[in-house]
Amino acid sequence: MPFFSDSFQRFITTLASSAETSAVSQQALEELAGELRLARMDVALTIPENRYLPLGKRGTMTLYDAHSPADEADVYTRVLRTGDGGEGDFRALRLAGTAPWTEDERAALDVIVDVYGMHGGRFRLIGQVENSLLTNYLTGLPNSGGYLREVGRRMQEGSLSDYVALYFNLKGTSIINLRFGQQQGDAIIRKYAHSLKEALLEDELLGHLGGDSFVAMVRRDREEALLERLAHTEVYAEQDGGERVPVALGACVGVMSLDDKLPGPWMLISGPAIAWQRAKAEGIPVLRLTREMYELTNRTRIVENTFKHALRAGEFVPFYQPKVDMVTGKIIGAEVLCRWISDGQVVPPAQFIPILERTEEIADLDLFILEQACRDMSAWKAAGHTPVPLSVNISRRDVGLAGIIERIEACFEKHGIRKGEVLIEITETSNERESTQMKDFVHRLFCDDIYTSIDDFGSGYSSFNFLRTMPVRELKIDRSFINHPNMADKDEIIIGGIIDIARRLGIEVITEGVETREQADFLMKLGCHRAQGYLYDRPMPKEAFESRLLRGMYEL
Ligand code: C2E
Ligand code: CA
Ligand code: CA
Repeated sequence: MPFFSDSFQRFITTLASSAETSAVSQQALEELAGELRLARMDVALTIPENRYLPLGKRGTMTLYDAHSPADEADVYTRVLRTGDGGEGDFRALRLAGTAPWTEDERAALDVIVDVYGMHGGRFRLIGQVENSLLTNYLTGLPNSGGYLREVGRRMQEGSLSDYVALYFNLKGTSIINLRFGQQQGDAIIRKYAHSLKEALLEDELLGHLGGDSFVAMVRRDREEALLERLAHTEVYAEQDGGERVPVALGACVGVMSLDDKLPGPWMLISGPAIAWQRAKAEGIPVLRLTREMYELTNRTRIVENTFKHALRAGEFVPFYQPKVDMVTGKIIGAEVLCRWISDGQVVPPAQFIPILERTEEIADLDLFILEQACRDMSAWKAAGHTPVPLSVNISRRDVGLAGIIERIEACFEKHGIRKGEVLIEITETSNERESTQMKDFVHRLFCDDIYTSIDDFGSGYSSFNFLRTMPVRELKIDRSFINHPNMADKDEIIIGGIIDIARRLGIEVITEGVETREQADFLMKLGCHRAQGYLYDRPMPKEAFESRLLRGMYEL
């Protein structure tokens, strides 16, 4: 067969039209199959681990199949070395019942194999360079880019709903590195990746984001088995003397069930990563993403990204909730509670305070609200009113911050706030270090003639010990005390006891969350005359509060 024949040219042109040998090989060889009486041609590839293929590559590819019986007695075989130290084991079969191959025809097959060798080598090189951008260099698994590309493809096919996405990281890799050295540490991660990859089915995916973090997409019905495997995998480390030591590997895993309505491929990484983060923080091995977790993360992101701007734009405003003397109905004070007015919506503090408390940004908000409260107080005084004391919440997180007292003092000074006009509300803590800071904080404020109030007393960590050592002005009984469904004699004894002790220590007592007349009567009977709660009013904007102040009283 002349190599410059048209059919041979067409074979080469077709093969060269794609980097994917398997995609075009059948069509290319069809050009020559008739002349060569070809029944089948396969290649078995074995490429050892190398820089571009850290896990190596093994597999058989069918280059041509005539789908007709072959003469198994007359086999053509040839082994070709690949540029990267591997082997391609080519095998061709002739159609059954046809004449045996001549010398020339066998030479033609040699040339065909050479063409495959060049084609494969050339495109593998290009592929390797392309792939190295989408592949983790250590394990050869897809990196985030490679993983997302594949996931994106599956998403377009709309075939995700039978799968779950996992995000996991190996536990104890830093200890492994210390024990065996960095190189062995890397080898262990490689072996781990390898063994996991082998445990997956063809349609499942594994990605290596770097370090000890991995992602996977596995069939829903195999989730449990895989989680079991992730919890306990064993690989061998080689010590210097060549001794093999078993290393047990566990992982912390976040899981997300998939469906085809996800907003984008990135959800397959970030979704389970949210659950993973929570699992890690709580020290549990596996956690599944819930809607609540997802929403919290989204909200956290929004709050963190927009807080600074919102603060400057004046989106945070103080609301005021009156404190009332239940016996007389008189307004005796107010708590200043923060609201975020975002796009015309009033966002309650539960949606953003806990998020801001994770960083020091909460102090900026607290001082901003304190400033507003001091400004209002000063304006009311200037207008000739007799305002009631305001209490402002200062987060526990602020208490240990350097310079916080100075900032509070400066604010009081700037607005000419006098003793008792503005109180600072804080909640107690069980943390020893914070508790010491808190004591120091209360003492220093006391020395500056600034009163403090202990918020949420009895809800968690508060203790009488704190009252013994702290010069606090006021104690706020938490609403959980009067608000649970089976109030019993014991509650009466406890609340009565708190009220009595506080009174004898010279501390004022107020109960929050008073919603009903019965609760008010119950508290008054026990000697607590002050309350804050929906029975009187909800927190309200400044203007509404001013009109309450003008009236000064609630009807009893
Ligand atoms: P808190 O300091 O314990 O404030 C009392 C909360 O109870 C307020 O919720 C108030 O609206 C609510 N409340 C008052 N009376 C009743 C009632 O009768 N029934 C019920 N169910 N609730 C009542 P709010 O305003 O949503 O604030 C929640 C928490 O957010 C506050 O709890 C406080 O811990 C925090 N917070 C609010 N503003 C600030 C602030 O400027 N700085 C800091 N650090 N925390 C703030
Ligand atoms: Ca409070
Ligand atoms: Ca409270």
